[in-house]
Amino acid sequence: MSENQPIQYPPVVEKVAIIGAGLGGLAVAIALRKQGIDTQVYEKAHSLRPVGAGLTLFPNGLNSLEAIAPGIVDSLKHAASQTRVTNFKKNTGEMIAQNSITLMEKYGQPMLNIRWSRLQEILAAALPNDVIHLNHRCIGFEQLDSGVEVSFDNGKIVQADLLIGADGIHSTIRQKLIGDGYPHYAGRLSWRAVVQYSHELLPADEVVLMAAPEGKNFLLVDVSDGYIFWSAGALSEEDSLASSAADVKLRVLEKFAGWGEPVQAIVAATPAEDIVERPIWDRPPLHRWSQGTVTLLGDAAHPMVPSLGQGANTAFEDAWELSRWLTHAPNIELALTSYDSSRIQRTQVIQARSAFQGSRAYESDNQIFLREALDQAQVSQPEFEDWMYKYQLFMRN
Ligand SMILES: Cc1cc2nc3c(=O)[nH]c(=O)nc-3n(C[C@H](O)[C@H](O)[C@H](O)COP(=O)(O)OP(=O)(O)OC[C@H]3O[C@@H](n4cnc5c(N)ncnc54)[C@H](O)[C@@H]3O)c2cc1C
Repeated sequence: MSENQPIQYPPVVEKVAIIGAGLGGLAVAIALRKQGIDTQVYEKAHSLRPVGAGLTLFPNGLNSLEAIAPGIVDSLKHAASQTRVTNFKKNTGEMIAQNSITLMEKYGQPMLNIRWSRLQEILAAALPNDVIHLNHRCIGFEQLDSGVEVSFDNGKIVQADLLIGADGIHSTIRQKLIGDGYPHYAGRLSWRAVVQYSHELLPADEVVLMAAPEGKNFLLVDVSDGYIFWSAGALSEEDSLASSAADVKLRVLEKFAGWGEPVQAIVAATPAEDIVERPIWDRPPLHRWSQGTVTLLGDAAHPMVPSLGQGANTAFEDAWELSRWLTHAPNIELALTSYDSSRIQRTQVIQARSAFQGSRAYESDNQIFLREALDQAQVSQPEFEDWMYKYQLFMRN
């Protein structure tokens, strides 16, 4: 052990309650159980049903997952596509630039694109069956002299030594702990879906990003097994949603009318009920995530607009580091203070950069911006990428 390594202690908590069986909640549950801590996950949904989304995993997220569950990256590689080329195009379909992805060569981990539901399944399979409690919507908590009491809408009350709010951007736990209200609408609506689809303009292991000057983007990603994840975004003053699935689909077809192949064709081929329409939200960074015996993780702690694809990747970093601090501090107070200090500054930078890149990508010169982003990726941007992807995980054995 190096001189700077904190001393290992027995876990400072015996029993942990996690709210939310999203990617962050499942990852931290696996990590805590590996430390021998009794961990239960409470999820409001009735089932872990497929969500119409794909997700990009980057070296920092993959290294975190590998630290949490050694061998998992190999399983993920079998279930995901490894992106080799990113194509930036005008909305007409004309190529602006092509970028070879060299993350594997630079950082020892690839860029993986996977269906959100496959990733959730793989993480859930790493936990015993009786750890995830579905149909449990958390409605509040009370901090006790020792520990915390958590209440659910089904009348159940559980006690734990630590409560982790991994309940996403509309976190009930954050609302009670911090009380900073509704998330901030970033001025853009998004539509996304995963569909079994093939097209000659969508080669395996490639990503296509198309942009129009009037503040619209359309992303197409091979997520393996014959599935394509598409995600569209458009500036919109209002964050009001369409009233039916059919209207959502019509909205996308209208907003992206006249776009080059295969935009209209893939939307037309997607069942209306599989298209998810959402406003893009974020929140300003917090200075503190933990109070007493309650803390936050993932989107509940640091939601960010999805322009860098770092939301889940940074949630995996949180999961590993929180689990390590709980076994490398003499008491819970120091463990949570150390978790906050090790995570907040880094995620603040990523939140800010995501917000900046997210809004730039929708400005009227977004085609120029995308070219600049590509140029920067080859010249000065590497410093930022090195910092983001080479993240040294705290106390990785
Ligand atoms: C269009 C889009 C594309 C994205 N692309 C990427 C990407 O490529 N890479 C990336 O890393 N990130 C991406 N993200 C972000 C990523 O999806 C999130 O950061 C990540 O899912 C956050 O995980 P989480 O576990 O913190 O929260 P969530 O995934 O939101 O999970 C929260 C869970 O808590 C449950 N819950 C909520 N409230 C309660 C309650 N009161 N009681 C019990 N359960 C509750 C919810 O049902 C849910 O299951 C993208 C996001 C969007 C919108």
